[in-house]
Amino acid sequence: MNDAFNPALLVRPDLEGLVPYEVHIHHNVIKLDANENPYDFPPAVREEIGRELVNLTVTRYPDPLAGELVARLSAYTGVPAEGILAGNGSDELILTLLLTFGTGGRVIITPPTFSMYGVHARIAGARPVDVPRRENFALDVPAIIAAAGHPETRVIFLCSPNNPTGNATPLEEVAEILKNTRALVVVDEAYQEFGGKSSIPLLREYPNLVVLRTFSKAFGLAGLRVGYLLADPAVIKQLLRTKQPFNLNSFSQLAACKVMEHREEFNRLIGQIRQDREELYREMAALPGVEVYPSAANFILFRTRRPAEQVYQELLANGILIRNVHGPGVEQCLRVTVGKKDENRLFLEKLKMILGLQEVGENKFAAESGRS
Ligand SMILES: *Cc1c(COP(=O)(O)O)cnc(C)c1O
Repeated sequence: MNDAFNPALLVRPDLEGLVPYEVHIHHNVIKLDANENPYDFPPAVREEIGRELVNLTVTRYPDPLAGELVARLSAYTGVPAEGILAGNGSDELILTLLLTFGTGGRVIITPPTFSMYGVHARIAGARPVDVPRRENFALDVPAIIAAAGHPETRVIFLCSPNNPTGNATPLEEVAEILKNTRALVVVDEAYQEFGGKSSIPLLREYPNLVVLRTFSKAFGLAGLRVGYLLADPAVIKQLLRTKQPFNLNSFSQLAACKVMEHREEFNRLIGQIRQDREELYREMAALPGVEVYPSAANFILFRTRRPAEQVYQELLANGILIRNVHGPGVEQCLRVTVGKKDENRLFLEKLKMILGLQEVGENKFAAESGRS
């Protein structure tokens, strides 16, 4: 067998053009690119997890339904346990939703928004249909309802507060869409702890609503991959057909339980981030030539008069990593995660310098160059 084996000839033809998700790792930078919680994991919670880890059974498979975590999530959200499904990050649950309901059908996406809805739709063999947001990033509700009228429409993804634009969707608009479709309406509330109204109260009235949540942003567990969804028990029953049985490992289940037990600590950090977001917004809005969008999340969307890629690269060269989100509807826009106070200050300082808004030769600069 001398013929060279070529996996490209075996791959699913419908995956053509799907590019792997790329993450560039940068060392020694201030990381304001991925909307993570910037604070150290609370030491008391870390220690408690460490203590319990000693007794954690790892020789047996994890609880497939993450019963203890689900019980705590039920107390947190007010949704009965039968209406909660935990996942290996909300990313996994997006794929599970699409494998269960999307394959072979249409999935409505409202760009500019989180890219994984489209990616996972393609992976699941569903057809993503774009219904772009309005210029102010509000949903085009009549257009969504019209597109949902197509008999092949199975799932509609709404993100509130929306990544990367930061605006939240009013509940009346979510209800309007729910009322006018038989498709599943998924409201991704990855950033809900930072602002906007939760759609959870609508669950009672609308069995086609799914609310998606994560521990990766407000609760500081991005590295352990924990997400969950809230839905009618009949929807969860269907999702169990495609879910990997042991999707959430024992360690992550334990850590997420501990986070739920220590919610006050996280609430304090969330409050701080919300406050710092407002401060950062005000300071950015005061910069000439910088256009800033209000945010209900833990990041801020903005544009300057210069190309986004240049600003991104120059910030990176100055040790600040943010995200270039330039694309349709967010032309030349950048997204910065709200960090700790000193990180935000440094970001502002470097941004001003790059935009030529700050005199070089201030005392601090002179003192620093004198030291080296
Ligand atoms: C970060 C993010 C997620 C991913 O959450 P994981 O639980 O880490 O998979 C989901 N949705 C949106 C909108 C996000 O920004």
